[in-house]
Parts: sequence; C-alpha cells; structure tokens
Amino acid sequence: MTRPVLKADMSAMDVLSALHDLFDRFGDSSYGEAVTQRAHMLQCAYIAQKDGGSDAIIIAALLHDIGHLLHSRGERVAEDEGVDMCHEKLGSRFLARHFSPDVTQPIALHVDAKRYLCAKEPGYEAGLSAASTLSLKLQGGRMSEEECAAFEGGVYFDDAIALRRYDDWGKKPNLAVPDLEVYDAIILAQLT
Ligand code: FE
Repeated sequence: MTRPVLKADMSAMDVLSALHDLFDRFGDSSYGEAVTQRAHMLQCAYIAQKDGGSDAIIIAALLHDIGHLLHSRGERVAEDEGVDMCHEKLGSRFLARHFSPDVTQPIALHVDAKRYLCAKEPGYEAGLSAASTLSLKLQGGRMSEEECAAFEGGVYFDDAIALRRYDDWGKKPNLAVPDLEVYDAIILAQLT
C-alpha cells in the first residue's frame, strides 16, 4: 500500500491532505495501547491545547507518532518481533520538509524524554503503559547520568518533556476529543 510522502514542492493544502490521508488510512492501528493511533494523537493535541501549549507544541503533539503510520511492519512489530522502528526519527524526518524544528524536534526527542524521565523521576517508569515499557527496552532503557546531562542542555529539552507528558496522558479509552479537522488552521499556520 503506497503511503504519502511530503515532497518539498507540495502546496500547503497538499501537505494537509497527505496528513489527513495518513490518519484516515493507517490511524486505526493501536501499537499495543488501549487506544488507536488516531485517538491517541488527537488526545495528545487536546491536552497540549488545554495545557496552554504553543501552536508548535500542539501540532507536535498531534503528529508525534506519525512515524508509526509511515512504516508497513505492522502494529505488533515491537511486541512480536522485538524491533524498534525508531518512529520518532521516521516521523520527524517525514515532517521536516514542511514544519519548523519547533514542531519536529520535540517529536524527534519524545522517546529520549521517556528514557530521561525513567532515569530522573521516581515512579515514572512504573507508571508507563505496557507498550511503552516494552518499547523502552528496545529504545535503550533509562538514560545514563551523562546522557541525562547532555539531554538537559538541549534547546528543546522543555518541549520534549512536555510532549512526553502529553503522550503518557493521551491513552484514555473512549475519551471523546475534537477530530483532526479542528486543527487544520493551526497545521496550515505552522507550515514553513
Ligand atoms: Fe505517543
């Protein structure tokens, strides 16, 4: 099944429809969580907005797991095959042609933010979902002290941690939140 690509010469409306296409065609997978990818990302955007996040972080939350929709290895690839698809890198690279680093960098770093919080915040790791706990192992586990120090010094440290909090929150079964169309204007305004 052909999946959309964001070519450099695409118009804003073409980018928007490619994103809708990905959500519509591949958003119903779950990757081991209690909610679909579509519901998860919509919940994350909703909580980012409620939290008073910038438009960039709202769109980062909305699109942070788009990397999961871009590969064809199936939603149980981590569980069944023990393979990390590096969805944060897939997603941030996919988006980088049309979105600024304020959107793509928190996405690229949201797995590292989990590894950081596991090292630094008592109880954080125990509170992760089962799927996040499994993927943590494949993603390198808790950060070392040196890795934590380097991560804290990054420009997008705060945004990456904020996105990670939204990510952990946005896994509620049967929670009704606004649909993708609601964010169209903000997506268009964030396109570079
Ligand atoms: Fe997520």
